[in-house]
Amino acid sequence: MNASFDTDVLIIGAGPAGSATAILLAAAGVRVVLVEQHAFPRQKVCGECLSAGALALLDELGVGEDLRALAAPEIRQVGWMGIERSVVAAFPRCASGAHPYGRAIGRDRLDTLLIGRARSLGVRVLQPAKVRHVTGTPGHFLCTVGLQVDAAAHRSSRAAANQLWLARVVIDAHGSWEQGPQVDEPHPRPAALRTPPREADLFAFKAIFVKSTLPPGLLPVIAFPGGYGGMVVADNGRTTLACCIRRDALRLSRAGMPGAPAGLAVAATLRSCRGVAEALASAEQEGAWLSVGPIRPGIRVDGDADIFRVGNAAGETHPLIGEGINMALQSARLVATRVSRLVDSRIDASSLHAANRAYAKQWRAAFGSRLRYATWYAQMAMRPAWAGALSGLLRTRPSLMTHAARWAGKASAATLTVIEDGI
Ligand SMILES: Cc1cc2nc3c(=O)[nH]c(=O)nc-3n(C[C@H](O)[C@H](O)[C@H](O)COP(=O)(O)OP(=O)(O)OC[C@H]3O[C@@H](n4cnc5c(N)ncnc54)[C@H](O)[C@@H]3O)c2cc1C
Repeated sequence: MNASFDTDVLIIGAGPAGSATAILLAAAGVRVVLVEQHAFPRQKVCGECLSAGALALLDELGVGEDLRALAAPEIRQVGWMGIERSVVAAFPRCASGAHPYGRAIGRDRLDTLLIGRARSLGVRVLQPAKVRHVTGTPGHFLCTVGLQVDAAAHRSSRAAANQLWLARVVIDAHGSWEQGPQVDEPHPRPAALRTPPREADLFAFKAIFVKSTLPPGLLPVIAFPGGYGGMVVADNGRTTLACCIRRDALRLSRAGMPGAPAGLAVAATLRSCRGVAEALASAEQEGAWLSVGPIRPGIRVDGDADIFRVGNAAGETHPLIGEGINMALQSARLVATRVSRLVDSRIDASSLHAANRAYAKQWRAAFGSRLRYATWYAQMAMRPAWAGALSGLLRTRPSLMTHAARWAGKASAATLTVIEDGI
């Protein structure tokens, strides 16, 4: 099969990971094609909080100023909203870098800013377009891209037209909550993506409200039996409420409201936390509840694979710590450094796998402990006995919340650099 177009790097997906990787590669002089299946702006299930480290990376990517002009004020307080009690403490301050505190901004805005920046640096953006199939070998990948697949934006379009792209390197930034493209690789897909349904599977929900009474700059963790969530005032006074709920807890909450959409059942469960009910007492919902799932936190980065994975496609923490975008941006920086070196030379299986292994090793070193910590914290929040005990402890020692946020990486600067190993 002959390709109609060619590029150095083809990136699948324009979430924060894909767009950031595209920006960094384009700035390094690499020819990049970025493929995104949805038209922007679009909403996405996400708590929409950016930590101080993420803000520093967004400065590096060239969107910091625009972002700060849109985003909500700094997040200065962290909170805990249990069934009965709410506790508030100071947010940990990031001691180094330009930004002491994080901010919140809707994904409709953030993702649009990033893809726009990529475009302005000469990245060829195909949108809406979906990567359907990747085949070939390192240095010679053939990617089938279906154009005009966004059903909402192109209701009247007929069957999508396919383009065939030849790419020397392919980077998978398709996220983790939906099936990615078919990739013909000698290597099997990571086990996490093939696990059968489990009661512990998490489903994620998000809704936006206006007129909430949640204080701007406060980021509470919401803990309820079988799930957890977060709430924050983001840009334009919009309050984002997002949560994860176990399959069994979702079933239980839906049983209490037969026939109601899942989002309404989840909303009722969230409002069983007094702090949520109070903050939303006179709020109005803007748009519908969005949902995704099952989401399965874990590590998927794979140094033996023919394609690179970045962002959630490489690995995912429990959303409770709200570090996914930060990790997406940081892993973009790691992968872009490896790939920009790789495309400077002749690419074959050996050179590509050496670069991918070095990247995967650094990914694990950078994020492995954050994933473990987030899992522990999420289990505490979801189990009523543990959450009750923790709630009592936090009431007497609110400063533990500040420490917990620091341990989760919320006050860490964007200090990741590529280990110099000659690859
Ligand atoms: C409930 C919840 C709350 C969260 N809260 C926070 C928070 O407050 N702060 C934070 O930092 N993180 C949070 N996260 C995590 C964060 O949303 C993710 O980590 C982040 O979106 C990962 O970015 P990404 O670019 O890897 O993937 P995504 O953002 O998922 O982007 C992937 C993109 O790829 C596109 N795509 C997929 N398949 C194809 C294809 N075949 N062809 C073309 N395009 C394709 C998709 O349309 C999408 O735009 C939360 C997550 C959840 C579930």
